Amino acid sequence: MAAEESREPKPEERRLERVMVVSAHPDDPEFGFGATVASLVDQGKAVVYVICTDGSQGGEDPTVPDQELTSTRYTEQRAAAALLGVKEVKFLGFRDGYLEANVELRRAISREIRRFKPDLVLTHSPLRAINIPIGASHPDHLAVGEATLAAVYPDARNPRAYPELLQEGLEAHKVKEVWLPGFDGADHFVDAGPYLDRKIEAIRCHKSQFDKPGMNPEEVGKWIRERMHQAGERAGYEYAESFKRLETA
Ligand SMILES: [Zn+2]
Repeated sequence: MAAEESREPKPEERRLERVMVVSAHPDDPEFGFGATVASLVDQGKAVVYVICTDGSQGGEDPTVPDQELTSTRYTEQRAAAALLGVKEVKFLGFRDGYLEANVELRRAISREIRRFKPDLVLTHSPLRAINIPIGASHPDHLAVGEATLAAVYPDARNPRAYPELLQEGLEAHKVKEVWLPGFDGADHFVDAGPYLDRKIEAIRCHKSQFDKPGMNPEEVGKWIRERMHQAGERAGYEYAESFKRLETA
């Protein structure tokens, strides 16, 4: 714990007290941002998750009913979030694999932004990355990245957008920053060394996802370490999660 307690927040992290992670599927927050979430929680930030889909395509067995898989995945997601100290997990329940960055999704994300009033939002990149494994550019990820950025600007901050949200008592809110995965052009690195084991432990909460070919827990842990070590080398850390920062207010 000493190493975690001694970590000094970077100046840009000090003004960001409330943090919302918006992801497509259960398990995306841990794979993408697990160490960063743990780090922010340890700095005393309030962190919540918004999971857009029901996770019902995250399996190899076509005989398992959608509702059963969704229930399993929601339980796993709650366990992983609790392990990292996340305050709340909101499931929007859109059908897995069918997401589009349409007004319905933008409004749903805007509702959560206005409700929780985050200073910082972490979400997927809206851009397909062609130099890394294809899984990062799942179409649902691209849709969530685009819809979340549209919710940050202009939807959530514009009191004239979605009058029904005002009727629900949800006032306009301006997010200060968005951090996207730094596949290209990373300009912000979070020292993940002290949180690496916790991130891997949180990923392992998603037990249903390790029933698939190529998803041996040891192999996945090794792969995560290698990827985070590569990101760390760019910033002088042993391990890092890397981001592209967008200042949005
Ligand atoms: Zn995903």
